[in-house]
Amino acid sequence: MNLEQLVRPNILALKAYSSARSEFKGSADVFLDANENPFDTGYNRYPDPLQHQLKTKIGQLKNIGTDHIFIGNGSDEAIDLLIRIFCEPKEDFIITLPPTYGMYKVSADIANVALKEVPLNARFQPQVEALLKLGDSPHGKLLFICSPNNPTGNSIDKRLIEEIISQFKGIVIIDEAYIDFSAEDSFIHHVEKYNNLVVLQTFSKAWGLAGIRLGMAFASPAIINLLNKVKPPYNVNQLTQQAGLKALDNLKNQKDWVQKILGQRAVIQQFLAGLDYVERIYPSDANFILVKVKDPNDLYRHLVQHKIIVRNRSTVLLCDGCLRISIGTATENEKLFAAMLDYTLGSV
Ligand SMILES: *Cc1c(COP(=O)(O)O)cnc(C)c1O
Repeated sequence: MNLEQLVRPNILALKAYSSARSEFKGSADVFLDANENPFDTGYNRYPDPLQHQLKTKIGQLKNIGTDHIFIGNGSDEAIDLLIRIFCEPKEDFIITLPPTYGMYKVSADIANVALKEVPLNARFQPQVEALLKLGDSPHGKLLFICSPNNPTGNSIDKRLIEEIISQFKGIVIIDEAYIDFSAEDSFIHHVEKYNNLVVLQTFSKAWGLAGIRLGMAFASPAIINLLNKVKPPYNVNQLTQQAGLKALDNLKNQKDWVQKILGQRAVIQQFLAGLDYVERIYPSDANFILVKVKDPNDLYRHLVQHKIIVRNRSTVLLCDGCLRISIGTATENEKLFAAMLDYTLGSV
């Protein structure tokens, strides 16, 4: 694929800001180049703009070269940067497969980039022919596939994803925010073969670090270079880089949390199956469950009265009657069960 034809001309021509920390590469004792405060606070120096240590550790964990890794202020930053790199406002469009994650549309709206939607089918799988057809337009630049998908919880069929990657004429972005909860394999190694593929992952879910804002994009070195050119020079702060390194040194915590969450997911599914006002429990490869109930607004209000907040998705396309419930701790889930049993007894 000829990437240059897909990139906005002003971005191709852009000369990136060159920071003091990236111009000098050797080792030195005295740094008088960045107008920093010389007194040591632990944080008086600018952070590594390209996060070398973090990328090395992530590369080891995922078995992928650091030239395939971009690190962002959350994976939401990568979504925004990709739209600004590839989509000319008021000319180009992105394609999403609703019902899906809301940030794709918000970032496109902010950039004044149009959105074309190809809804998932009733089994929450993509309509491949229709979306490939949209990609035939030179203005159809980006296609976002979320797998496992938020809010439906299912993985997208890997054969369909492969078909899309090999045939779509723009950039395919696979958002794997929930991949650590899934039995399916990640697509990250496909970025070594396809230069039009981006895979997003995040520290916000399985790693328990939503508060530090740390996300990853995996792609061809050509796309990584574009992301680095457009990002703010110090997009990932030093505290966040340090917290990310610490988490990566404690991989066992992440694995333990994921196992507990998967165990609780099965417990919740079994509990929900016993409620007469539950009409459908959708299978989940993620740390949440989409559940269809008789009266979602009424149940939502009932749970709020019990100080339990879930996500009401009942107005979302293909999600009539649905609430999305994140998997909590065993204690939290027991509170949910008590409130849901109380609802059965009280109001149905
Ligand atoms: C939660 C979530 C993210 C995470 O975004 P961050 O900016 O990394 O916190 C990305 N994509 C999807 C689909 C999500 O649900």
